[in-house]
Amino acid sequence: MGEIIAVMNQKGGCGKTTTVVNLATSIAAMGKAVLVVDMDPQANATTSFGINKTENKKTVYTALVNECSVQKATIPTKIENLFILPSNIDLSGIEVELSKETNYHIALKNLLEPIKDIFDYIIIDLPPSLGVITINSLIAADSVLIPIQAEYFALEGLADLMNTIKLVEKRLRSPTPIKGILLTLYDARTRLGREVYAELKKYFKDTEQIFKTVIPRNIRLAEAPSYGKPCIVYDPESKGAISYLKLAKELLEMDSGK
Ligand code: ADP
Ligand code: MG
Repeated sequence: MGEIIAVMNQKGGCGKTTTVVNLATSIAAMGKAVLVVDMDPQANATTSFGINKTENKKTVYTALVNECSVQKATIPTKIENLFILPSNIDLSGIEVELSKETNYHIALKNLLEPIKDIFDYIIIDLPPSLGVITINSLIAADSVLIPIQAEYFALEGLADLMNTIKLVEKRLRSPTPIKGILLTLYDARTRLGREVYAELKKYFKDTEQIFKTVIPRNIRLAEAPSYGKPCIVYDPESKGAISYLKLAKELLEMDSGK
């Protein structure tokens, strides 16, 4: 059974896309079949894999509005075991399109249903908002991974995020569990990172929810997308790549221990 993980945080720049791209690549490198679903109209995850977002016409949007099948829109990346349901700017119109339908909030869940079991993991990248796309992704997902940037005000907005999760929970009458909180852009040289980590522990009391793996601030992670490659491929020896491989291992161990 494929597990669907939504990577969400309505804050921009906290490392969602970087996490989706590099975690998905790491899990694929461990021999699992992985699908990345790019639900951000900015399509950063799509371009991070070297896919030209203006040339590529079949997207998650065209699949959602039934202009093509989900199977047709799902394409292989250059990485073994790794596929993508790409995005482009058209997706920004999805809110209007879906609002014409009564069951607008389950559109993504329905879309992924026929392909879910082809993959071991389906990882969804989200835009920095809490709108229709986020609700759809939460309903489609089996769990949520929340990247949090190690900075002041990192926890600000977390309450809104948790409220959205609870709202969906009420509607579904079943919770979307939190897979884990991931500390990103961590700088070991500053006290700040350690302080944010301590604050997170306080906020989430149940420390089990915070991944042991922390993602350091690493320039190679920021450079890789401009080469159209995940950092795992661009510079596998870099601290950034190593940390995402570690995260993938932690996640797979978590799942095998279930
Ligand atoms: P989001 O998807 O949440 O908006 P991104 O993953 O796009 O965030 O990250 C925002 C910016 O920070 C991008 O330019 C990205 O390359 C960079 N970045 C993300 N994580 C790291 C990291 N650990 N170290 C250095 N740069 C990072
Ligand atoms: Mg992003």
